Amino acid sequence: MVDPVGRHEWYIRTVISLPEMEAHARKPLCVGGRSCTSTDQVFGWQVECSCRQWRGKLWQRTNRPLDHNVPERILYSADGELSPASRQVVLADWDGHVHRIWTVMPVRLAHEMLLEAQLRLAEAVRFARSTDASWDDIGSAAGGIAGPTARQLWDGVASPQPQISQ
Ligand SMILES: [Zn+2]
Repeated sequence: MVDPVGRHEWYIRTVISLPEMEAHARKPLCVGGRSCTSTDQVFGWQVECSCRQWRGKLWQRTNRPLDHNVPERILYSADGELSPASRQVVLADWDGHVHRIWTVMPVRLAHEMLLEAQLRLAEAVRFARSTDASWDDIGSAAGGIAGPTARQLWDGVASPQPQISQ
């Protein structure tokens, strides 16, 4: 579950080896004559979120400038580092995650208010019952529901707490 009010900070993960999910479909492109050195072993990049509930799709690296192809998610990098322009391209994935967080934010806030109101209502009913208010009166105050229905709704949560004498 995404926590819309939690912390969401991006970071770019450098992919060194083939992710298992991609292994069947993709091969490393660093095959151009030289043997792979440490920087050549950079296979690609992914944006990830600190919430650990979202990860962008893989951007694959090529060490051949002509293979640079943004629609195919292939980015040129000679040394395994992202150029500023490529970095912007990778970070555009992050916008989708942020958009998703913000579109559900009103639902999250409304739901929190609902839970809070339910707690307050239960507290109020508990207080009313502790002063011997009838279920009929409580139901009437709670939008005009019948006493037995009110009792059914709140008898468990709103029974007067036993008094503890000290
Ligand atoms: Zn997140």
